[in-house]
Amino acid sequence: MKILHICSEMYPLIKTGGLADVMGALPYAQQEMGNDVRVLLPYYPQVREKLGETVEVATLGTFAGVVTLRFAQFNGLGVYVIDAPHLFDRRLPYYDDNYQDYMDNYKRFALLGYLGAQIAEGLDHWWGRVEVLHAHDWQGGLACAYLKSWHSPVKSVFTIHNIAYTGRFQAYHLPELGLPWEFFHPNGLEFYGEMSYLKAGLYFADRITTVSPTYAQEITEEIAGAGMHGLLQIRQAEGRLKGILNGVDEAVWNPETDGNIIAPYRANYMHGKAKNKAELQRQFGLPEDKDALLFVMVTRLTEQKGADFLLANIDQMMQYNVQLVVLGSGAPELEQALRDSAARYPHKIGVKIGYDEALSHQIIAGGDVILVPSRFEPCGLTQLYGLKYGTLPLVRQTGGLADTVNDSHKESIENRTATGFVFRYPDPQDFLEAVMRSINLWKKNKLWSSVRQNALAQDFGWGKVAQQYQSLYQEIV
Ligand code: ADP
Repeated sequence: MKILHICSEMYPLIKTGGLADVMGALPYAQQEMGNDVRVLLPYYPQVREKLGETVEVATLGTFAGVVTLRFAQFNGLGVYVIDAPHLFDRRLPYYDDNYQDYMDNYKRFALLGYLGAQIAEGLDHWWGRVEVLHAHDWQGGLACAYLKSWHSPVKSVFTIHNIAYTGRFQAYHLPELGLPWEFFHPNGLEFYGEMSYLKAGLYFADRITTVSPTYAQEITEEIAGAGMHGLLQIRQAEGRLKGILNGVDEAVWNPETDGNIIAPYRANYMHGKAKNKAELQRQFGLPEDKDALLFVMVTRLTEQKGADFLLANIDQMMQYNVQLVVLGSGAPELEQALRDSAARYPHKIGVKIGYDEALSHQIIAGGDVILVPSRFEPCGLTQLYGLKYGTLPLVRQTGGLADTVNDSHKESIENRTATGFVFRYPDPQDFLEAVMRSINLWKKNKLWSSVRQNALAQDFGWGKVAQQYQSLYQEIV
């Protein structure tokens, strides 16, 4: 099957979050199954640096100016890029250094959707028309609208990686983008008087997926649906909404082969993990105490991720023999609060503000517990990496976290299904209660090892995920 993915991030070319990890793995898994798969993304400076040699496919005059479509083979996968320096030659993909969204985002990502739909329709004569256009998140959403407006036979799938980002823009831009006014309608891409690129994807795609079964249910409810729950209820009733859990890219996240950690390890050689813990403690200037329970967190610092639950409990937690290492960036007030905590407990807390791919691996390998206390979480990847690395996830029971981590209690420990710690309500007290349960289990060496072995035995391979997408495509093609 001929499949084109349209997205704004793809690891390792450009990454700000989990979407990139998915796009760096899913197309490869689909290719391995015998599909003909390509990806389209903007030619950001980071992409330009890593992609290598490209060939020109076409130069086109568009509503966003003259742009060049290029093509390259990247690690064996065909990648199209939109070469338009006036739109994409910027250090950060979505906003400037002051976290202000770029004013022309409406045009930048309309172009992504437009060219995606064009390629799907056969713009690149060498490749021809595709069977499935698969668009991701609001940045790719308009591709589904363009296909519909051209009455294209190409089928489309839209995947929600995070519904909180709805991609809203002023409606008066619509004619400029070459889409018909009829689309500015509640049965279309209209959303509270504006247009929403996410809604365009939801409304016009033949199938909607999201990245976990629990999140697929949650977004049909008002509390988590970001205003789209009505439409999603309809799509659910029509059987056109499905949750497919993300996988883990074993080529990138595997403690046996990970080049970013100082000592490799595996389930029957956990000595390596202890070395990584000591290294992490050393790097952050913490005492190299193997008995201290080392909590870690690697995250964007936004309200979603619940770092405030941790901050509210720092003083209580630090009364025990625990340590904490956090890597994250985002909201300035959360960054500052974390720095302040590290200053108050220099021998117990290490904080690095910033984005650091290599360090994120060392942290996940060196920690004992990885904290993912999200208010909502479509899938979540760091808890999966935690399981793979024997770093027990402590998560809130929401979205993909609920689908992937089993709480440790007497029964689940006995029947070997326990893999981490789960708390229910989004409040600091419930979080603390789970932290206390982890501290208590840590004291019981044997039980801890047994839960850790359960975690290490979990399988999140992309092969079976790709199989699920395949079945979905087959339903519509
Ligand atoms: P989201 O996409 O909402 O940020 P996910 O858990 O799905 O959350 O994916 C986050 C990805 O980004 C993971 O690969 C995680 O390791 C990575 N990540 C997040 N923050 C940082 C950081 N500060 N430095 C390095 N990697 C990070």
